[in-house]
Amino acid sequence: MKHIAVIGSGTMGNGIAHTFAQFGYQVNLIDINIEAIQRAINTISKNLDRQVTKGTITEADKAATLKNIISFTDMQAGVADADLIVEAATENLDLKLKIFKELDAFAKPQAILASNTSSISITKIASVTNRGDKVIGMHFMNPVPVMKLVEVIRGYATSDKTTALIMDLSKKLAKVPVEVNDYPGFVANRILMPMINEAIYTLYENVAGVEEIDTVMKLGMAHPMGPLQLADFIGLDVCLAILRVLQDGFGNPKYAPCPLLVNMVTAGNKGIKSGEGFYNYAKGVKEAVVAAKFS
Ligand code: NAD
Repeated sequence: MKHIAVIGSGTMGNGIAHTFAQFGYQVNLIDINIEAIQRAINTISKNLDRQVTKGTITEADKAATLKNIISFTDMQAGVADADLIVEAATENLDLKLKIFKELDAFAKPQAILASNTSSISITKIASVTNRGDKVIGMHFMNPVPVMKLVEVIRGYATSDKTTALIMDLSKKLAKVPVEVNDYPGFVANRILMPMINEAIYTLYENVAGVEEIDTVMKLGMAHPMGPLQLADFIGLDVCLAILRVLQDGFGNPKYAPCPLLVNMVTAGNKGIKSGEGFYNYAKGVKEAVVAAKFS
């Protein structure tokens, strides 16, 4: 596999493009929104600068990585020569089904179609294509260049060959792949999202404030980041979408999203990417949004 296409250049898409490009793959980065692509290239450049400063890569590596990335707004042109397509567009079932139907028509017959979805069924995504054996979940973690895990999700029809190729490719990116089966939330988000939701309920019920909840989990459980800060980092809209998938997929009310999360997303407070979530990022540093706002 030499040519990779990445669909979506948001939080995850830019990190996925960065990682493949850094390991020498040719990357076509595709987004319907030209400004999102420009933001992504800026972010990749800044993140590469950080790696240069740390001494983990050289200026020449940075230049070579950026050179390996070409941007596209036209999906058909962007996926034509790809051996692997990693879809990292917005977490929305109808959107992903539309994209995979198009990918099946536009991509080379032997190309593997992977989704970075956090929770949507790979089996369902594969069902709109005529190559279910070549559809798989390749779930990177945020921030992609830093985080080691890739959750590799086998849909009902995913072949052993496709799974082996993606496990092997993940190792070539210096990641640690873990193979899991296709059930709502897979492993990572089935466990993480109920914890984040419970933290939001704890705030909603005024048990403690934003910083207090995060401090308890950081210092008490040795988590590097508190659950509310982590939710801001992931994106509150993404957290809400995943909880809805868990709620629908298992039919169990224990996964129902906290009304406060629903309100915040409805108001456009999506965390870091919108400038405010449980914390405000407007001044370039994070400040807890006063608890009074939530009560
Ligand atoms: P995001 O909102 O930051 O970015 C999504 C991008 O997709 C946007 O730039 C948007 O313009 C683009 N897009 C929408 N429709 C498109 C289309 N038809 N063609 C091409 N581009 C399109 O979202 P994100 O946080 O990067 O999440 C992307 C995927 O990764 C989701 O499936 C999400 O569940 C998953 N994921 C997110 C995280 C996280 O921490 N944010 C972690 C792991 C997996």
